[in-house]
Amino acid sequence: MLSIENLSVKVEDKIVLKDINLNINIGEVHVLFGPNGAGKSTLINTIIGNPKYKVVEGSIYFKGRDITDMPIYERAKLGIGLAYQNPPGVPGVKLRDLLKIISKVKWEEIERMAEILNFKDFLDRDTNVGFSGGEVKRSEILQIFAQNPDFIMFDEPDSGVDVEKIKLLGRVINHLLDKDKKPADRKKSGLIITHMGHILEFINVDRAHVLYNGIIACSGGPEEMLNTIIKYGYERCIVCYQKRN
Ligand code: ADP
Ligand code: MG
Ligand code: MG
Repeated sequence: MLSIENLSVKVEDKIVLKDINLNINIGEVHVLFGPNGAGKSTLINTIIGNPKYKVVEGSIYFKGRDITDMPIYERAKLGIGLAYQNPPGVPGVKLRDLLKIISKVKWEEIERMAEILNFKDFLDRDTNVGFSGGEVKRSEILQIFAQNPDFIMFDEPDSGVDVEKIKLLGRVINHLLDKDKKPADRKKSGLIITHMGHILEFINVDRAHVLYNGIIACSGGPEEMLNTIIKYGYERCIVCYQKRN
C-alpha cells in the first residue's frame, strides 16, 4: 500500500526527517511512537502532501505509484486520508454539510456512525468550532468514515479524549481499518500516532516504530516496543540505533 524510501524532509529550512524507510502492506496497521517534536506529524503531513513539508531526498510510493510530487487533492483521490491532530475550525460550515460534500458512503451510514460515536447533536454545529479535544477527535473520525480512504493516518486520536471514550474510539478505528474482518478480507491499511498506548488495547496493530529526533530509531512488535519505552524510555531506542549503525 505505502512504501517510503530514504525520505528526508525539510520544514522552514530545518531538516526534520532523515532517511526514513517504511513499508506498510495492505491489511497492515502500524503505530508510530516518539517524544514530542520527534517529527511524527511531519511524517504524516508529508505523506498526505502538505506543501509546507518539502521532500529533499527520497520517494513515497502509494499503490505502486510515485506520489512524492503529487498535490494533496490527488493523493486524497488515490485513497489517502488523515485524521488531524489539531484541525482548524470551519466557521459557517456545518459538519452535516461538510460530510455531505466529502462523502463516498450513504447518508444513513454516516448517521449510524454518528450515533455510534454519540455525536449526532454535533452535525448541526459549525465544523470543529468550539469543540473540545474529544469532540474534535470524533468529528475527524466521522469525516474519515465519510471519505472511506484505503490508507488512513490518525494523528494522536486519543489525545484530549476522556478515558472512558478511548475504548469506543479504538474500536471504531479498528473497524475503519478492516481489522474486525478476516485477514483475507482486509483491504485497508493504517498508520497511528499515539503517546499513550491505551488505545492500542482495542486496535489490532501489526508493527510499531519509534521516531526519535527525525529518524526511525527502532521497529518491532507493538507490545514489546511499548513495554521497552515504558520501562527504559525512548533513549533506549536511540542507543540500539547507534549500536546498529
Ligand atoms: P511531533 O508530531 O513528533 O511532536 P512535529 O512533526 O510536529 O513533531 O515537529 C517536528 C519538528 O518540526 C519540531 O521541531 C517542530 O517545531 C518542527 N515543525 C513542524 N512543523 C512545523 C512548521 N509548520 N513550521 C515550523 N516548524 C515546524
Ligand atoms: Mg506532538
Ligand atoms: Mg505531532
